[in-house]
Amino acid sequence: MTNLLICPLCRTPLQRHEKSLVCQQQHRFDTAKEGYVNLLLVQQKKSKAPGDNNEMVKARREFLQAGYYQPLADAACAILQTLDANHLVDIGCGEGYYTERFSQVCPNVIGLDIAKTAVQIAAKKYKHMTWLVASGALLPIENQSVDVVSSLFSPIPVSEMARVLKNNGHILIVRPADTHLYHVREALFGEVKAHQPDKFLEELEPAFDLVKQQELRFELELSQTALKQLLAMTPYVWKAKPERRLALEQQSHFKTEAAFSLMLLSKKTIV
Ligand SMILES: [Zn+2]
Repeated sequence: MTNLLICPLCRTPLQRHEKSLVCQQQHRFDTAKEGYVNLLLVQQKKSKAPGDNNEMVKARREFLQAGYYQPLADAACAILQTLDANHLVDIGCGEGYYTERFSQVCPNVIGLDIAKTAVQIAAKKYKHMTWLVASGALLPIENQSVDVVSSLFSPIPVSEMARVLKNNGHILIVRPADTHLYHVREALFGEVKAHQPDKFLEELEPAFDLVKQQELRFELELSQTALKQLLAMTPYVWKAKPERRLALEQQSHFKTEAAFSLMLLSKKTIV
């Protein structure tokens, strides 16, 4: 899978030389002991440790491993399976829960994320895949080389996705739907503003055609531990008043709803 990679500095192809990836201009990137390659340039980092912090990563890993979002992984895989894809890139792969599932229906999968801690966990656990610390905004991937780019709760770099996709390629996007975690948000904020998963479809319109949009809803029955993990992995929770969060965390059992929007789009053919 490394044969699709290009140098983040000079954009020439990267070749494997023993434990490193080296470009035509001799820029060299070493494989970390966990098995991933760091292709994130210093100038692409907005902070010393960009991406989700360690607590978020750990909470998310435990929550996902417990299977709470398995219906989402199943639904995303079912869509992928219809595409018969050979090469997939997962942007914002985190600790690789969904990415690994994708590798069960697609033979060549690259997971990338700017959060090094998350990629370390992914690479250690799932050794059969390619893992990169890299930016989705400037993908270190060859032009027109992949069949699918996926982005689950992650940024959607429209022109980069179009660039790396083959002509008949697809993107798979997952976003929270309107009532996602409604009761959690109600407890935290009092009022709930509906998520608007398709507000960015307009942005994608110049490069992509919508093929399929599917809503997935299921009930979540959370133990106190799972609820705490869910709160720790959810980015907007820090905006809640601390006393509200604390009160919510006292619940020994909590029911809410997961609601997702899955969108499959195809790359527009340029005539
Ligand atoms: Zn280079």
